Amino acid sequence: MISQRIEQFGRPLAQVIRDDPLPRGTEVIIRVGHCGVCHSDIHLQDGHFDLGGGARVDLTRSVAPPRTPGHEIAGTVVAIGPDAQNVQIGQQRVVYPWIGCGECAICRGGQEQMCPSPAALGVNRDGGFATHVVVPHPRYLIDFAPLAEAQACVYACSGLTAYGALKKIRGLGAGDPLLIIGAGGVGLSGIRLARHLFGPPPWVAEPDRTRWPLVREAGAGEVIDPHADGALRSLQKTTLGGVAAAVDFVGSAASFSFGLGALRKGGTLVSVGLFGGAAPVSPAMLVLKAVTVIGSYVGSLSDMHELMALARSGALPPMPLNVRGLSHAQPALDDLRAGRVHGRTVLSA
Ligand SMILES: [Zn+2]
Ligand SMILES: [Zn+2]
Repeated sequence: MISQRIEQFGRPLAQVIRDDPLPRGTEVIIRVGHCGVCHSDIHLQDGHFDLGGGARVDLTRSVAPPRTPGHEIAGTVVAIGPDAQNVQIGQQRVVYPWIGCGECAICRGGQEQMCPSPAALGVNRDGGFATHVVVPHPRYLIDFAPLAEAQACVYACSGLTAYGALKKIRGLGAGDPLLIIGAGGVGLSGIRLARHLFGPPPWVAEPDRTRWPLVREAGAGEVIDPHADGALRSLQKTTLGGVAAAVDFVGSAASFSFGLGALRKGGTLVSVGLFGGAAPVSPAMLVLKAVTVIGSYVGSLSDMHELMALARSGALPPMPLNVRGLSHAQPALDDLRAGRVHGRTVLSA
């Protein structure tokens, strides 16, 4: 088994070769075929999330290197534990990685991704920047036929995160404008899903104009540069007072403020991105505009089943991918950090 592993926060990934894992109990071993590269993998390697003003979420205790990142995993079942049922060697599956303790009320309520003692693959347990992954139970494995494996893996985070966020928008009427902020991997998934869930093409705010062709291809309506002079005012004017809902796939101070400012009265901002920073919020403005601000973190196992059913039906256009070898995991993270990636990078193991 080969893995590209974090040995120490802030240091480059190291290639490690070990014996192939053996499954115990209900465990299933997946021979990884493809694993997507996500912005969270960068935060994981750094060992913290930036909250702005010098504040940080320290990952030392929850992650505890050595740790293999990678949570967008698809591959083939190669070994099955003695207690694992309804799974067969040779099955090709995408893995739901947002695993909880399985015991608490939140997990039993079907919201494992919100468990206070998470066991997420590629975060709290070893993930898919490797040739093999240990999945604790077959219920986290989902069929992806007839999709290509490289396409299927990105539904586990970028697809699911976008789906989970868009599901939090309620009561969007026909013709109610929706704004998507940021067209990285998750934002592009969001645009494609918004077309399917809501119909009319969403507005998209993306400062990097070299991404605009992909944004349009994904199904965007108006594409705007949020950093341009008067961008917010002109959006408010064209939409007759602002958008009904905005989804911030960036999560920076600037993108959050832009999303909040773009809302019309009674609008909803869903905050999804983890870029970092802190933005000032005026409590009186929340009242006067009667807006709702919601945070959204990935999605539940049942969301993932819904999303995969949608994807397998052919309803969603394929995601633009850059496929690279597993040994390029560190350069892939470096390119993502530097903003050089268009679409989603997927490692082929
Ligand atoms: Zn992710
Ligand atoms: Zn739990």
